[in-house]
Amino acid sequence: MSSGKIHKKATTGLALLSTPLLLWCAVNVREAIIFIIPGILLGILITPDLDIDHRIVSHRVMRNVFGRIFGYYWYYLWHSYSIAFTHRSMWSHAPFIGTLVRLTFLVFPPIIVLFRNQQTSLSKFATYLLISTLLALPIAGALFVLVFVLQLNIIFFVFAVLGLMLADALHFIMDII
Ligand SMILES: [Zn+2]
Repeated sequence: MSSGKIHKKATTGLALLSTPLLLWCAVNVREAIIFIIPGILLGILITPDLDIDHRIVSHRVMRNVFGRIFGYYWYYLWHSYSIAFTHRSMWSHAPFIGTLVRLTFLVFPPIIVLFRNQQTSLSKFATYLLISTLLALPIAGALFVLVFVLQLNIIFFVFAVLGLMLADALHFIMDII
């Protein structure tokens, strides 16, 4: 069982170790490096441990890197998620599934209604879910602009998601050993 700090170090290490490997085997080295590595590092922010109902490393990194306002933004964006799932449930921690649920949550928080497995008061959950949904609107908007207005190649997102899935799989393994 690993703490948040150890997860953060392991994720950073994974990003560093992946670089030479990707240089060696990637078909398109540039895209791989530019998007897989940030995808792995994103695992520090969009971590399976966001299912913990208090401030974790992810919130602290957000506040230290982007400032206090973004720290609050990040905390309240994820608060409904943190009270929706029991810690280390399959919806937050299972490789592949957990990553997809979190990424969907980032653009459409109400998705967690389908998978919620933690007993909290319905009114509290509904209130925080409404807050999350409002706070996710800029993210959904930015994604829409990137894909449909600026027409960023979708393959970039695939590489980044792949990196994030790698980080989440490492997190899962570290939690069970
Ligand atoms: Zn964990």
